Amino acid sequence: MIRKLFGKVFSKTRARGHRPVTVSAADHGIDRERISRCAMKTCETLQAAGHDAYVVGGAVRDLILGRKPKDFDVATDARPEQVRALFRRSRIIGRRFRLVHVMCGAETVEVSTFRGGAVVDGDGERIADASGRILRDNVFGSREQDAARRDFTINALFYDPVTQQVLDYHNGVADLKKRRLKMIGDPETRYREDPVRMLRAVRLAASRDLEMDPATRKPIGELAHLLQDVPPSRLFDEMLKLLLSGHAVECVRRLRRNGLHHGLLPLLDVVLENPAGERFVMLALSATDERLGCGKPVAPGFLFAALLWPQVAEAWKKIEATGMKPVPALHEAIDQVTAVQFEKLAIPRRFSADMREIWALQQRFMNRSGRRPSGLLHHLRFRAAYDFLLLRCKSGELEAEVGEWWTRFQQADETQRNAMLMRDAGPAKRRRRSRRRKPAAEAPAAVPSAH
Ligand code: ATP
Ligand code: MG
Repeated sequence: MIRKLFGKVFSKTRARGHRPVTVSAADHGIDRERISRCAMKTCETLQAAGHDAYVVGGAVRDLILGRKPKDFDVATDARPEQVRALFRRSRIIGRRFRLVHVMCGAETVEVSTFRGGAVVDGDGERIADASGRILRDNVFGSREQDAARRDFTINALFYDPVTQQVLDYHNGVADLKKRRLKMIGDPETRYREDPVRMLRAVRLAASRDLEMDPATRKPIGELAHLLQDVPPSRLFDEMLKLLLSGHAVECVRRLRRNGLHHGLLPLLDVVLENPAGERFVMLALSATDERLGCGKPVAPGFLFAALLWPQVAEAWKKIEATGMKPVPALHEAIDQVTAVQFEKLAIPRRFSADMREIWALQQRFMNRSGRRPSGLLHHLRFRAAYDFLLLRCKSGELEAEVGEWWTRFQQADETQRNAMLMRDAGPAKRRRRSRRRKPAAEAPAAVPSAH
């Protein structure tokens, strides 16, 4: 009886995250060899100096799932200055909350001091605005508090690479085994504190093939509007993570299912409402997923060029219909679309130059005679622009024949290229000649002269 009572009290305390469960290597299954050399060395050095040090966050989650972590983060009770003093190649970064970057060879490990301050702790340092959004969370805390401020149970695991034990405050290991994504604490409060957690939930569930816990999923639709107050640069970073997750198609599908695409991401909103746009964007996303799946790189400029193309193409058509020539009309369309979208999405300049170039080159693929096609092959952005052209063909926007011609043209030798150009130039030249021969009065009045 007494033991039963104790058991109850103990499990309650545990559930509230005060006392961690220790999970051994046999149960969590992390192979120590898969911890990066730099993360290992960082933890060992900190521990040898008498500090607590763990690999934390996404890396522990991904290792238990059998995936290769993107990067390694370490959490410790040492203050940034203490960490800095232990590693020759390290530097303190960040003003609001200071972190230390420890460098070993080409690798960098981010070391953060345990952070505290969940609103519910009432520690006064963590201030929320009227909608519950956290404005300040820059306080050091205990290991327990550091676990509690994290978003999902599976992201709140602390792995000690020396003892090979995982400290689990919120039943994260069990959730991982059940492939369940569960918010720590009250989901609605946590989404109000930081609305980006809604996007993180969708991305993590889609990219790691997890099922959202019903209570974690439920508030998302109703709170989607809170994302409008998130600074555009943060929204952009999150969008980029989502689109480059290797599961962009699934992420977008789930964003829609959770009512998150509507009115939230200006880009997806417009594009997914129009069927032609949707087809093009989904094709671009699945091509991106496929490339990432084979370990090939994807340029963010290409991706955003694809996402905004349906709008550029539509504007281009409209402007051309007013009588402007195709090339200036395309540039005008590009200016119009970027003026609106760049402000809302804060697309960084380094990506926008790539996007403009890929778009501007599309017009040049229409010219398949003379010396220009060979010149285009040497353009720095030819490859990206050509891949983009193939997407346009695949989506039905352009005749497949255009893409096929450019594929053959690249593979052809000099003689074959000349033949292709002549063949293509033939009918056009013939048309021009016959037009010249016609008496002026016979020319159709409605056709504007191209010369
Ligand atoms: P990935 O690196 O694949 O994007 P991640 O979970 O590692 O996923 P990071 O942005 O690297 O994401 O964050 C590292 C850790 O910090 C997370 O695992 C989580 O514990 C915590 N974290 C990140 N963002 C938030 C947030 N908005 N609210 C609470 N905790 C967060
Ligand atoms: Mg990470």
